[in-house]
Amino acid sequence: MTSSPQSITPTLPQLDADCDRCAALCCVAYPFDASEDFAIIKETEDPCPNLSGSCFGCTIHDHLSNRGFGGCVAYSCAGAGQRVTQDLFHGETWRDDPDLISHMSHALRVLRPIHEALLILKEAAALPLPTEVQNRCQLLIAELCPAAPTSVWDFEEDSVQSALASVPEFIEGLIAFVPPRG
Ligand code: SF4
Ligand code: SF4
Repeated sequence: MTSSPQSITPTLPQLDADCDRCAALCCVAYPFDASEDFAIIKETEDPCPNLSGSCFGCTIHDHLSNRGFGGCVAYSCAGAGQRVTQDLFHGETWRDDPDLISHMSHALRVLRPIHEALLILKEAAALPLPTEVQNRCQLLIAELCPAAPTSVWDFEEDSVQSALASVPEFIEGLIAFVPPRG
């Protein structure tokens, strides 16, 4: 017996990036090692020097690959950036208060893997899964969506982090339910 994907019960957060509602958190939160993906070295929580000084736009946005920033083209926060900015920090930004850089960066680093896992689980839920497996999928989704979160701590709870840690093994076990291509 299989169940339909419509049975997802928790309300999923937006799982694609809305950079206009974000404070360019990915351009701040991560370190760059000079490589084929990033042309410069940048420390964790240092704003990228290519970030506009007057807004949260990238000054080389149209030339990222040519300028050696293919890693920025490939990056996706799966919607975690605007959620951190708008929901956890109420639209405040690290430019309003530089002390927020480390808090917002930390929050992005916590929420991004959760959002990526939710994206994968959403796709998994659309497979023709047996009811028991679908239920497990729904449970993982629910555990990754704490009710009414107000701070990053809600996402650092053991229940959330333990669900996150179990997603890879759950996904590996779905191979038998993926329809053959073609
Ligand atoms: S963290 Fe996400 S939403 Fe924010 S600027 Fe980066 S890609 Fe866009
Ligand atoms: S190059 Fe542009 S997109 Fe990449 S981190 Fe720097 S400001 Fe952000």
